[in-house]
Amino acid sequence: MSGFRALPSADQFLSSEAGRALAEAHGRTPTLAALRARLDAMRAAIRDGADGAALAAGLPELLAADLGAAARSALRPALNLTGTVLHTNLGRAILAEEAAKAALAAMRNPLALEFDLESGGRGQRDDHLRGLLRELTGAEDAAVVNNNAAAVLIALNALGQGREAIVSRGELIEIGGAFRMPDIMARAGVRLVEVGTTNRTHPRDYEDAITPETGLILKVHTSNYRIEGFTAEVEAPRLAEIARRAGVPLLNDLGSGSLADLSIYGLRREPTVAEAVAEGADLVTFSGDKLLGGPQAGFILGRKDLIAAINKNPLKRAVRLDKIRIAALEATLRLYRDPERLTRRLPTLRFLARPQAEIRAQAERLAPQVGGLLAGLGYGARAADCASQIGSGASPTDAIPSAGLRLTGRGGDAPDRLAALLRRLPRPIIGHIHDGALILDLRCLERDADLLEALEAL
Ligand SMILES: *Cc1c(COP(=O)(O)O)cnc(C)c1O
Repeated sequence: MSGFRALPSADQFLSSEAGRALAEAHGRTPTLAALRARLDAMRAAIRDGADGAALAAGLPELLAADLGAAARSALRPALNLTGTVLHTNLGRAILAEEAAKAALAAMRNPLALEFDLESGGRGQRDDHLRGLLRELTGAEDAAVVNNNAAAVLIALNALGQGREAIVSRGELIEIGGAFRMPDIMARAGVRLVEVGTTNRTHPRDYEDAITPETGLILKVHTSNYRIEGFTAEVEAPRLAEIARRAGVPLLNDLGSGSLADLSIYGLRREPTVAEAVAEGADLVTFSGDKLLGGPQAGFILGRKDLIAAINKNPLKRAVRLDKIRIAALEATLRLYRDPERLTRRLPTLRFLARPQAEIRAQAERLAPQVGGLLAGLGYGARAADCASQIGSGASPTDAIPSAGLRLTGRGGDAPDRLAALLRRLPRPIIGHIHDGALILDLRCLERDADLLEALEAL
């Protein structure tokens, strides 16, 4: 039995071959800190009767594991096999290659963000997106901000501060993360006037609520729920007419807002942004990282005079976009100019457009290999049909037929234990638990090798 003397001093260890290699890989300061923590723990263990020589022999491997874990970011790339294509907690849309390249170039180089290359004078950062947005949507003008929540906040403030906004009771939404329409209105300095009932709102309800105090009429896409049954809603074209007659602006918050017609992918038809603009709303707002498939951003499109008021609003500076995202957005919007190749280039639409038969064939191909990798842990894998969804509040009640791997093991907690193991991999794999199994929906897995390589680390 050897005691404290079997342990190396910190200096001795750092000048050993193993110590030098660790300091080279992770830096001297972090290595020394991890080493001291381990040596303290080992001295305590020896006081409790552990063998010093045995502990010392295991030191290099333990330190390598400690330093490896500390160096690993929780933001490392994961595999989204949840079946939710736009998963808010997994960062929503992943960018097209073109957008990622543009973002990288913007990070590494100076660029004419607020500089007019023609005249050498001052430019505006939104100019880089304004032309494309007008071209793609038919809107008169456009402003871009941090996200759609900011777009709604600044639009409400610019149109209605100190005045009233009329909204249907059926559209007073709450989106995840404490975004509640009544609270946003209060913060924007706008007084909420609710009209209609939860299930039915009529043109008269809006007309009767209009007073000299009215600042705007607000229409909100009921992103994450659907009211069904005995319902009535005033559609945007009719509401635009009511607003125009009363001389108050109509703000239409689309939420997800797609620039492409989703029905060509076999998905439920949602009005496109261009249609919402054509329907006569004075301002339209939507997100950059939902169906559009770009980085986090919020768009405000519409009347030139109202966009000018938004650009002059002091909140604009607080919610403006950075150069990296402007570059990525510009590259993303450019892809929409070439609709024939859009699905191939834009991951969000590419995932949504994948036919179930193709995903099923992939699941059947992968099941035996994944089963082989999990057998040692007591789990089996088989191909099974499942249902994906768009996510982020687009067509919330619609399931998209998909396929994936159904992973099962012994014991009631088998799916949870496997889910935890897969979450902690160097490349985390995120699935969902359904009906006593861990389901890996393969809709967003484009390369089989990504899954196999991630699992090999088990
Ligand atoms: C998602 C959503 C928002 C918020 O958009 P973010 O880009 O997440 O800030 C606002 N309104 C509606 C209707 C939405 O669906």
